[in-house]
Amino acid sequence: MTVVGVIVAAGQGSRFGGETPKQYLALAGKPVLRHAVEALQATRSLAAIRVVIDPAQRAAYEAAVGDLGLLEPVAGGSSRQESVKRGLESVIPLAPAHVLIHDGARPFADPALIGRVLAALDRHDGAVPTVPVSDALKRVEGEQVTAAVARAGLHRAQTPQGFRFRAILAAHRALDPAAGVEDDAEVARQAGLAVAAVAGAEENLKITTAGDLARAERLLGAAGEVRTGTGFDVHRFGPGRALKLGGIEIPFERGLVGHSDADVALHALVDALLGAIAAGDIGHHFPPSDPRWRGADSGQFVLHAAKLVAARGARVAHVDLTIICEAPKVAPHRAAMAARIAALLGIALDRVSVKATTTEGLGFTGRREGIAAQAVATIMVPR
Ligand code: MG
Repeated sequence: MTVVGVIVAAGQGSRFGGETPKQYLALAGKPVLRHAVEALQATRSLAAIRVVIDPAQRAAYEAAVGDLGLLEPVAGGSSRQESVKRGLESVIPLAPAHVLIHDGARPFADPALIGRVLAALDRHDGAVPTVPVSDALKRVEGEQVTAAVARAGLHRAQTPQGFRFRAILAAHRALDPAAGVEDDAEVARQAGLAVAAVAGAEENLKITTAGDLARAERLLGAAGEVRTGTGFDVHRFGPGRALKLGGIEIPFERGLVGHSDADVALHALVDALLGAIAAGDIGHHFPPSDPRWRGADSGQFVLHAAKLVAARGARVAHVDLTIICEAPKVAPHRAAMAARIAALLGIALDRVSVKATTTEGLGFTGRREGIAAQAVATIMVPR
């Protein structure tokens, strides 16, 4: 019995207000779509998965799930139903018996729920996971409650919805595109197919608003475990070098000496990030003996550390950097450094702190022999 999955992820997420469509937003360090795909793959009962995408988002798609062994994605249509239809047409050569149609913005379908959907297909043309409505229902017009709606017998429909493949394909082909149906269970029902309701799950939420994303983070326990790492670095001043500090170039009569661009602040930051995931230190990842890093922009070390953090499913909550020197004056450059670091880490500006201090003329920094930097990184790791 061949089962294939069709995941619709062609939406542009306009209700979210941001540039990134919701299926590509990070949820506990992983794109929402990746959660959705992995949820279907976890059942081990699917022969193949096809994702329907907006071709303009191909790069985001590849970054999110390009390594998961999926079928080549197909382009969606102007409506969800058109996108599903294209997905169904595209898997005809696989001759599936059953198909699971799933929302790319629904990250938490659990194997038990998917099992209930598939089991119901023994006796029905289609099966949809539903959750009974428990709140009182009101019709609201403007700010006014104008009517009560009886909730008896009302359920909310979720995905994945399962169907006998030939039956749902025929139903989609027969559907009037102007019918304005909201899901595949309704496409099936309008074609006269028998659709069963199986138990859905409250946790199987769809990410539609920023509030949904926050709720999903809480469900994952993404706010559950905090880890911190610290970093410290020193570089000496030398002649003939530009001064790179905190990811930007600062006009100064001397630069720092080192194998790379010697950005002491970013080096401390990299060690803090690596420390938070217990992944060694900067010298381990970028040995000074390696000619590849001669004169290298230390921004790429930060990007690498951020990638390792993301690979653990973690996200950077906050970084705090202290630069220790008598000169140059850091204050005029603090905002530019923070902006550069926030961009490198892909986090909001209010999650980046850059501070500076002197050592009151004492020690090597007091003698203006070099610059020291220390950093603390705080990351959130899902349980
Ligand atoms: Mg260094």
